[in-house]
Amino acid sequence: MDTDASVHNNPLLQLDYEPAFASLGDDYYDLVAAAPFPEHRLRFRGDGVLRLLGLDPATVGEEHFIEAFGRFAGRGPFLAMRYHGYQFGEYNPYLGDGRGFLYGQVRGLDGELYDFGTKGSGTTPYSRGGDGRLTLKGGVREVLASEALHHLGVRTSRSLSLIETGEALWRGDEPSPTRSAVLVRTSRSHVRFGTFERLHHFKRKDLIQKLLDYVIAVYYPHYGAEPERYALFYRELVGRTAELAAQWMAVGFTHAVLNTDNMSITAESFDYGPYAFIDRFDPGFTAAYFDHYGRYSYGNQPLVCRINLEALQLPLSMVIPIADLEAGLAIFDTHYAAHYTARMLAKLGFGALGPVLGPELVKATLNYLEAAQAGYHGFFQALAASFDRSWQSDQGAIPAPVVGAPEAFELWRESYFRALASLSDSELLRVGERLNRHNPTTVLLRPAIEAVWAAIDQNDDWQPFYDLIGRLRKPYAIA
Ligand code: AMP
Ligand code: MG
Repeated sequence: MDTDASVHNNPLLQLDYEPAFASLGDDYYDLVAAAPFPEHRLRFRGDGVLRLLGLDPATVGEEHFIEAFGRFAGRGPFLAMRYHGYQFGEYNPYLGDGRGFLYGQVRGLDGELYDFGTKGSGTTPYSRGGDGRLTLKGGVREVLASEALHHLGVRTSRSLSLIETGEALWRGDEPSPTRSAVLVRTSRSHVRFGTFERLHHFKRKDLIQKLLDYVIAVYYPHYGAEPERYALFYRELVGRTAELAAQWMAVGFTHAVLNTDNMSITAESFDYGPYAFIDRFDPGFTAAYFDHYGRYSYGNQPLVCRINLEALQLPLSMVIPIADLEAGLAIFDTHYAAHYTARMLAKLGFGALGPVLGPELVKATLNYLEAAQAGYHGFFQALAASFDRSWQSDQGAIPAPVVGAPEAFELWRESYFRALASLSDSELLRVGERLNRHNPTTVLLRPAIEAVWAAIDQNDDWQPFYDLIGRLRKPYAIA
C-alpha cells in the first residue's frame, strides 16, 4: 500500500489538480476505479511534459510515476467520459471511455489546462465486454507516434508515462498472449466531437450549452463574453482542424481512425492506434486493416475532417444558428490549402512564393511523387542533400531526386527552377538551410516500429526503443 509519506513526497501527486471537467457535473461522466495490476515497470517517462507542468524531472523518480500512474487502484474516483460517435460513418451510441478515464487536469507553465488521460487502466461502464486494457505494443506505438509528431511540429497529445503491468492479454491483431501496459497522456482536451453528438442524441440542449461554455472558457478564452463567441468558436475550430489536417498531410501521417470520437474539440491530434507514416506517396494508402473501403486513407484525411466538422453542426445547431455554422465551415478549404501549401513549400526550401508559383510547385511535386511512385521522405531528403545554389541559373543542373517518371520530373524541374529564379540573393541563401530544417532524417516508418517491438518482445531489450525516441526528438539535420 502507498504510505502517506510517499504520497506527500510525490511531485506528481502534489501537482495542482483543477477539477474543471468534474465541476460540470455527472451528466458528462461516470465515476470509475482503476484496475489493480500484478506488476509495474516504468518503460517510458515524458520528461519534456514534466517540464511543461513545472516539474524538474530530476525530482521525479520511477517510484513516483508508478505510484501516481500505475498503482492507482484504490485512489480516485476517476472520470470515465461519456461520448458517442460516428465510426466509419455509422452512429454508435455505445461508446465512452471503455479502457481509460480522465485522471485529472493540470495547468502548464504556458497557462493552458492539460488533461491527464489514461489508456488501459481497467474496465468502465463503457467497456462493452472488452478487457479495459492496453497492449504493451499498443502503448509503445502510441508513445512513438506522439513523440514523432510533436517533434515534427504537429499539434498532438503527449505521452507522460508508459507502465508495463504484467498481465497476459489476448488480441486478434497481435500474437497472443501479449503483454499489458497502462499509458497516461496529456491532451489539450479529451472532449470530442462525439461528446456533443451524445448530448444531441438525448436532445439535451441545456447540456450542450453548458459544455460549450466550458469549452470556450477553457480552450477559447480569448472570446470571453463576446456575444458572437459560439460562432467564433466553431469558426476557429474549423480553422484549427484544417491546420491539423495540413500538418498530418505534410509530414506524411495517416491517423487511420478518424471517427468523430477521435476528433478533439481543440483540434489536437490524439489516440494513436493503427496509424502509419506513409512510405511511398500514395493518397490511397490505408493504415487500418479493418478500413476496407479506404475511408480514412492518407489522402482522404482533409475531406474526412471537413465531413466530421459538418457532422458536428447537428449538435451545435441546437445552440448556434445554422447560418453561422455554415459560414464557419466555409473557411475550411482555403485554410487547409494555405497551411498545406506553406508546409510543403518549406519542405521544398521556400518561404512564401506568391499565389501562382507556390501552389503550382506543390502540384508539380505531388504529380512527380505519384508518377514516380517515389518514397515520400526519401525525395525530400535527396533534394536537401543535393541542393546547390547554382541551380538558380541552370535548370539542367537540377538532378532528379528520385528515379522514374521522366516527364513528370521535367515538369517538376521547370517549376522548381521557376521558383528558384524568383528568389532574391538573400532568399536563395536560405533554401539549403530550410531544406534541412523541414525534412526529417528519421521517419517513424512501420519497419522501424516493428524492429523496436521485436527487440522488446524477444529479448526484453528496450534500448532500440529509447534510441529511436532520441532520434525522433531531433528529426532534422539542422536543429
Ligand atoms: P479506440 O479505437 O481506441 O478509439 O476505441 C473505441 C472505443 O472502444 C472506445 O469507446 C474505447 O474505450 C473502446 N475500447 C477499445 N479497446 C477497448 C478494450 N480493450 N476494452 C474496453 N473498451 C475498449
Ligand atoms: Mg478513441
